[in-house]
Amino acid sequence: MFLHRHATAALPRYTSYPPANRFKDGEGRELYPWWLDGLTRAEPLSLYIHVPFCAQLCWYCGCHTSVANDSARIDRFVGHLLKEILLVSSRVHEPGEVCSIHFGGGTPTMMSPQAMARVMSTLRDAFPVRGDAEIAMEIDPRTLDDAHVETMAALGVTRASLGVQDVDPDVQRAINRIQPTELVADRIATLRAAGIRSINADLMYGLPGQTVDHVHRSADAVSALGVDRVAVFGYAHVPWFKKNQAAIDETLLPGARERFEQAEAAEERLVADGYAAIGIDHFALPQDSLAVAAREGRLRRNFQGYTDDPAKTLIGFGPSSISALPGGYAQNAPHVKQWSEAVAAGRLPVQRGLGVTREDRLRRSVIERLLCDGAVDLRAVAARHDDEPTLLVDAFARLAPLIRDGLATVDGWQVAATPAGRRYWRTIAACFDPELAPFTGRHSVAV
Ligand code: SF4
Repeated sequence: MFLHRHATAALPRYTSYPPANRFKDGEGRELYPWWLDGLTRAEPLSLYIHVPFCAQLCWYCGCHTSVANDSARIDRFVGHLLKEILLVSSRVHEPGEVCSIHFGGGTPTMMSPQAMARVMSTLRDAFPVRGDAEIAMEIDPRTLDDAHVETMAALGVTRASLGVQDVDPDVQRAINRIQPTELVADRIATLRAAGIRSINADLMYGLPGQTVDHVHRSADAVSALGVDRVAVFGYAHVPWFKKNQAAIDETLLPGARERFEQAEAAEERLVADGYAAIGIDHFALPQDSLAVAAREGRLRRNFQGYTDDPAKTLIGFGPSSISALPGGYAQNAPHVKQWSEAVAAGRLPVQRGLGVTREDRLRRSVIERLLCDGAVDLRAVAARHDDEPTLLVDAFARLAPLIRDGLATVDGWQVAATPAGRRYWRTIAACFDPELAPFTGRHSVAV
C-alpha cells in the first residue's frame, strides 16, 4: 500500500544503531585501542577489508571509492593495509575465532592476485580464522579476469557478490555501467567452475529511466542465472554528499510511487521465481544459509546488510571502514591519503566513532529484530538485556500514525508490521530511534 508520507520519510538504513551519521569526530580515536584490548577469546570476530578503488565510476555509486588505474598507487595501498592489519592485531591480545571475512569496496579485485594472497595470508597469520569461515568478495564482472578467479578459489573465497543493478542497456547508459548479461553469465560460470559456488547479485530500483518492466526483466535475468542470493536496493540520490551522482539526469528519476511499485515488482517476481524474501531487501534460495537463518530466527543485520554471521564484533580495515565492538563504533579516515599517513606513522587510522550506552544496545536489538523479522517482542528483547520494556514506551506515540494507517500493530509488548506494512519495516523500526523524529533530513527515503 503506497502512502506518500511514510514512503518518502528520510530514514537511516540502520546497518548500525546509532547510525553512522551520529558518530563524533575524534571519539573513536581514543577509545578504539581500549575496545580492542578488551576483546576476549570468547568473542567471535568478523573482519571487513575495504578496497577503495574501481576501474571507472558508476554514477549511482554511494561507496567510498575512486578510479585508480595506476598499479603503483594500489600497491602502496596494499602495503599500508598490511601494516594496518598488524597494527590492529597487536592490540587484540586475545583474539576470538574469525567466522567471516568480507572484502568490499570499491572493487577488491583491483588488487593484483599476488596482493590479494598477501592480504589473506597476513590476516590468517594475525587472526585465528576458522576452517569453515565464510570468505566473501565483491567483484565487478566487467574487470574480473580468470587469474583473479583462480586466486579467489585458492584463497578459500566462498561467496562472490556482483553488481547487476539493471539489465536494460538504456538504464545502464544512464548510470554509466554498461554490462551485458552474457558477460555476467560468463563470469558466474567461471566462478562456479573454480569452486566458488555461492553467488550474490545486487539489483537496484529507482534508477534513471527505470520502469517496473525493467525491474521484472532484471529479476528474471538473475534468477535465470541461478544466483543464490539477490539484494535489491533503492537508489539513494544524494548528490550533495556523493558528487558523482550529479552526473545523473534527475529528470529521469522515478517518483515516489514509481519507486514503490518497482520495489514491489522486484519482490513479487523474485518470490515467484522461488526466492524467499529476507528482511527488507534481500532474497535467497530456500536452501541458502541466509534463508535458513531467517527461518530459524538467527538473521542479523550489520554493515554488509543481512547476515547469518554469529559474530557481533566486526573489525574493519582500509579507508572509511567501520569497526563495531562491544564498547562502540570506530570509523577509519575516509580518504586514502589521511588513512595512509596515519598507518605509516604507526597510528590506528580512526577518525570518528561513538561509544554505545546500555540503552543504545537495547534499541539496537529492537531495531535489528524489526528489520530482520518485521516484528518484535519488546519484553523478550528487554529481558535479554536485563532491562525493562518500559524504557521503550516513547516509541508508541511515533507508531500511532502507522497503526492508524494499517501498517503496524501493537498488542501488549508485541509490535509487528501488517501485510500492508511490508514495505515500511524501516519506518516502523525508526519509531524506536528517539533522535530521529521528525522523519526529515539527509537520509535516503524509506522506500
Ligand atoms: S563498481 Fe561498485 S564500488 Fe565501483 S563505482 Fe561502481 S558501484 Fe561503486
